Amino acid sequence: MGARIIDGRLVAAEIRGEVKARAAKLAAKGIVPGLAVILVGLDPASLSYVTAKEKACAENGLASFEVKMPAETSQEELLAVVRRFNADSRVHGILVQLPLPKHIDEKAVIGTIAPEKDVDGFTPINVGRMVLDEPCFLPCTPAGVIELIKRSGVPTDGARAVVVGRSNIVGKPLMNLLVRKSVNATVTICHTGTKDLALHVREADIVVACAGKPGLVTAEMLKPGCCVIDVGVNRVEDPSVAKGYRLKGDVDFEAASKVAGWITPVPGGVGPMTITMLLANTVDAAARISGLEA
Ligand code: NAP
Repeated sequence: MGARIIDGRLVAAEIRGEVKARAAKLAAKGIVPGLAVILVGLDPASLSYVTAKEKACAENGLASFEVKMPAETSQEELLAVVRRFNADSRVHGILVQLPLPKHIDEKAVIGTIAPEKDVDGFTPINVGRMVLDEPCFLPCTPAGVIELIKRSGVPTDGARAVVVGRSNIVGKPLMNLLVRKSVNATVTICHTGTKDLALHVREADIVVACAGKPGLVTAEMLKPGCCVIDVGVNRVEDPSVAKGYRLKGDVDFEAASKVAGWITPVPGGVGPMTITMLLANTVDAAARISGLEA
């Protein structure tokens, strides 16, 4: 029997319905949740993410405030915009689109975002709170992965989970979320220093691939019936399509879906969850800042 396909668009739509209802509840009390997005430079991928965020806000009853700055913007100019949004009562969430141009210190910029408006969950204060399991904003992609697993009915209590990738924005936060009591998995995290990736993956009831390497996780590595969450988004050349490329995950989807019990496709798996969790965090921020229930 083939794997159940976890449809990220469907789960995202379900959560967006909840977010929209909560935003409307706040709006009825005079608070429209507001998200500020700051983009420096004209990277086409970043530009399309920013446009998607703006559209998602409009569709779900959130206000959005975009600032697009030229690539040569100085760090001080960018920090001034962040500080302005920190002080703006219409703004409940602030997101600085990464990556930033090389002359700007990303850590300094992220560290300037007010923690109560850090809806990406990237400030050191939020990361610390996440690790301590205290109220915080969870980083959007890892939080989306946990929602996909939970809402698909994948058993997690006592499950063995393997995360392939240890970045600060995906792999490490996932490790922290999977090990929480509310998920209760036993977690192994793999990276380029891992000696035998297959050995670890084969043990896993839940595999989360977030390495950014197309096809890294093969069907042969998987334990039959496991859950495979593919975070990877990789452009691979494909002259047969007009764009000249297609998107591929870190997992060999065709073969893996014959072995796994659950699997996410790319696109249409984790991708739609990221902006959805950002909207959810922004509504949470608006509720916390205003002291109103949403
Ligand atoms: P990243 O910062 O490049 O980190 C990749 C991680 O994978 C690193 O820890 C690296 O190990 C590890 N890795 C690379 N090759 C490996 C290999 N052969 N075996 C084991 N580990 C390996 O990437 P990221 O920002 O976390 O993103 C990962 C992927 O997720 C990318 O494809 C990205 O596009 C995608 N992504 C998707 C979403 C979404 O919304 N769907 C959001 C964010 C990211 P070292 O630490 O040893 O270098």
